[in-house]
Amino acid sequence: MSLIEINDVHKSFGDVEVLKGIDISIGHGEVLAIIGKSGSGKSTLLRCINGLETIDRGSITIGGNHLHGTAADLRRLRLQVGMIFQQFNLFPHLTAGRNVMLAQTVVKKTSESEAETVARDVLASVGLSDKFDVYPDKLSGGQQQRVAIARSLAMKPVALLCDEITSALDPELVGEVLAVVRSLARGGMTLAMVTHEMQFAREVCDRVIFMHEGRVHETGAPEDVFGAPKTAELRQFLGMAN
Ligand code: ADP
Ligand code: MG
Repeated sequence: MSLIEINDVHKSFGDVEVLKGIDISIGHGEVLAIIGKSGSGKSTLLRCINGLETIDRGSITIGGNHLHGTAADLRRLRLQVGMIFQQFNLFPHLTAGRNVMLAQTVVKKTSESEAETVARDVLASVGLSDKFDVYPDKLSGGQQQRVAIARSLAMKPVALLCDEITSALDPELVGEVLAVVRSLARGGMTLAMVTHEMQFAREVCDRVIFMHEGRVHETGAPEDVFGAPKTAELRQFLGMAN
């Protein structure tokens, strides 16, 4: 069975229907790239999967459990899906290590010592084992984003959602963040990533979803989506993006 099942999801803001019936299933360990023009609904979709937005119709299940059930269900399930944004949103007054420890101690009620052990472990896994005591303003953007990834990993998510996580970075810092994503993908993490990094999507992702005007307009293996796009809209998008 799939890890995440999205069935006929509709979402409007006021009179504007932003998601017009989305069906996607994401398997365990699958790495999904979500591409599409600005305004096509990519971020809204990720926010719905993470329970940051309610949905108007349809269903989303994670490991067979409904995401938009009771408030208690929502809280429990949200802990299982990590989300990383374009902006890193680290607390500036806390060290990298403390940033990674915080959600564990506050939300999961993990003990300080256990949270520290986990924090050191996940910081090492993103290549920052020497930055535990360093404050965010002493880190590069790429390092800050890796701390943000570590902070998500510390919660032991079953899946990670990434929303344009390299878009705010200087070009020379993109590679180090993508390298971390690549290693997570290879390690079996289930990933859904909105990205403009087409070459990366082609190399690392199992499947690509092209969103257009609130719908999954075209989907397939990277070699098909990028190599032989079927719809005029995707051809036009790829022409613009490359
Ligand atoms: P994408 O990530 O593909 O650029 P978004 O999901 O951010 O697209 O936005 C899709 C549409 O929904 C846009 O027209 C955007 O203006 C609108 N939208 C997104 N969030 C909100 C919100 N909280 N309130 C009103 N409109 C929103
Ligand atoms: Mg977006």
